[in-house]
Amino acid sequence: MAKTLLSIRDLKVYYPVKRGFLSLQKQYVKAVDGVSFDVYEGEAFGIVGESGCGKSTTGHTIVGLLQPYSGEIRFEGEVISDKKRTADQAVKSQIIFQEPYTSLDPRFTVGNLIAEPLKVNTKLTKAQITEKVKQLMKDVGLNETQITKYPHEFSGGQRQRIGVARALALEPKLIVCDEPVSALDVSIQAQILNLMQELQRKYNLTYVFISHNLSVVYHLCDRIAVMYLGNVVEISTKRELFDHPAHPYTQALLNAIPVPDPDRVMNPTVLSGDVPSPLNPPSGCCFHTRCPYATDECRASKPALREIGEGHLAACHYCEKLQKG
Ligand code: SF4
Repeated sequence: MAKTLLSIRDLKVYYPVKRGFLSLQKQYVKAVDGVSFDVYEGEAFGIVGESGCGKSTTGHTIVGLLQPYSGEIRFEGEVISDKKRTADQAVKSQIIFQEPYTSLDPRFTVGNLIAEPLKVNTKLTKAQITEKVKQLMKDVGLNETQITKYPHEFSGGQRQRIGVARALALEPKLIVCDEPVSALDVSIQAQILNLMQELQRKYNLTYVFISHNLSVVYHLCDRIAVMYLGNVVEISTKRELFDHPAHPYTQALLNAIPVPDPDRVMNPTVLSGDVPSPLNPPSGCCFHTRCPYATDECRASKPALREIGEGHLAACHYCEKLQKG
């Protein structure tokens, strides 16, 4: 049985908003509203969902860039969700950001960008750091002669390689990849995804891979969690999720993937209405305002994320009945 590296229980990340006369009324934007899942050592765990569903907020909370409102995050069994995350715990999980143009400081050379975490967190000498930086550049497919160049002298794909090298510098166990290829051209996306797979094998990495692109997640991930309005609505292995989706939201997402076959008649499920505001989420099931199968029970009670098959969890009162395949 695979070892659990990261364990998240009932994680809530709320942003306070002041409203009303003299801003006395305090409300919360519920970006993440009770998320639970485990990530096993050595796997690539995908999180998918529409913009604003809370997937990036979850990733940023895992690496400590955001503090949870409540809930617990454990890494190798130790709680890291409180404010006292030690330096040792902090370096074990790193992040690759979505935007390779703004996530690199334009005043730093590539060498300094990759060396910075090593200077801050290790006792390596200057020569050892330079050697390590050159090795990392080689590992991500950059030429070490480019060490003195600045980010603006690189293409988008090369910049994302710098971001990958920087995330690898401290030899983390877990990397949160926050939409790392969505800002790149399609041909470059494939190169970066292949590089990430190669590095996962070489460094025995575990990924939490965040994306809104189901095809990208299918290519890279072993298991996938689907998020909607701050909640996880389904978790399964990628094959089971694509072959037998159980939650109506997952079914709609899969139905919307274009098929490269001009003769095939597409019949995508069109969800009615907009995603509700996380400031005032609906009662009961978070998806009931758009679900074609919603009943009074859905409007009244929130379905728990429960096991409906081996390693397959879904949060829907009628998931067994609605499961496709
Ligand atoms: Fe739809 Fe009801 Fe299932 Fe929610 S619980 S997804 S509203 S059928």
